[in-house]
Amino acid sequence: MLGLYVHVPFCSAICNYCNFNRGLFDADLKARYVDALVEEIKRAPRAAADTIYFGGGTPSLLEPEEIARIIAACTSSFDMADDREVTLEANPESVTQARLAAFKTAGVNRLSFGVQSLNDAELQRLSRLHSAARARAVVAEARAAGFDNVSIDLMMWLPGQQPSDWLATVDGAIALAPDHVSLYLLEVYPNAPLKEAMARARWSQAPDDDAAAMYTTAMERLEDAGLRQYEISNVARAGRQSRHNLKYWTDGEWLGFGCGAHSTRDGVRWKNVSATEDYIGRISRQASPAVDVRRLSPDERLGDALFTGLRLVDGIDLNAIDIRYGVDVWARFGGELQSFVDAGCLRHEGDGLRLTREGMLIAHEVMAVFV
Ligand code: SF4
Repeated sequence: MLGLYVHVPFCSAICNYCNFNRGLFDADLKARYVDALVEEIKRAPRAAADTIYFGGGTPSLLEPEEIARIIAACTSSFDMADDREVTLEANPESVTQARLAAFKTAGVNRLSFGVQSLNDAELQRLSRLHSAARARAVVAEARAAGFDNVSIDLMMWLPGQQPSDWLATVDGAIALAPDHVSLYLLEVYPNAPLKEAMARARWSQAPDDDAAAMYTTAMERLEDAGLRQYEISNVARAGRQSRHNLKYWTDGEWLGFGCGAHSTRDGVRWKNVSATEDYIGRISRQASPAVDVRRLSPDERLGDALFTGLRLVDGIDLNAIDIRYGVDVWARFGGELQSFVDAGCLRHEGDGLRLTREGMLIAHEVMAVFV
């Protein structure tokens, strides 16, 4: 079944490290954008789908009625599974318990909060609008609003962050008893305002060895708390893995709606135009918002399946790959992969191929073999 991704490109303020497709909130632009989204979804060819993911930007800046309209467009254009997963990314400062309850009534059944840190100094360095106290409160409000599937995003390797600071955030996150946690490594882009702020204030990121220990210790603590790692950056309680994101890692198919959204279906990949006004203009002229439409070659499809599948803790089923792509992966790549097996970074057992936790630290080197 398809996953449906809906991009919402609005934020209340722009964070100093952000490289996503987003802009400042504007009520008039948002209203026209939601109309365009509904129109794009209505035009999609009918198919079965089981997940909807509102990502951004800050999707929680939309009104619950707008989210309800978009979900209704999905359910009328697609054969949506009864047990659909409907995720809304939300920033802690953008919601209240009443607003969360209204999102639930609108059809959202999973929340993903951009917590990032439970340390106020770190949140300020990242120019985030919320405090640690607000982040703690929002998880309790989500529970009170009836959500039984709550994820939080955390960022590590922050400027000026000591390993002990990071582990305090991890412990604080565990105390909130989330169902799912995503851990991201901060990447400071060359022209990010944060880079300049770091130079001015002499904030640096921890050395690589510390970063590796921060990652592995966090994973151990999360697993001890019952949150099993299932992907390089993700842990979840049993049955609470992100069904939508699993489509990206299990060679699935998805359609993206909205500006800058990507789609992959039937071996074709495309991307919608990035600029919000351009997107709205194309939809209102009945033109396609898609740019950059590409049929993937068999080797690209195989490479993607291996590259993304290796992100999963369970790794890749080489027999399934052989059936789908007619390629004996070990015969083709084994020569290059054996050194990673010998180094304890990769396990090749029967039809399985998976990274060890040490291997996850150098995943990009292993995956480079496939692309
Ligand atoms: S809230 Fe998220 S999408 Fe918006 S500017 Fe900050 S990091 Fe970027």
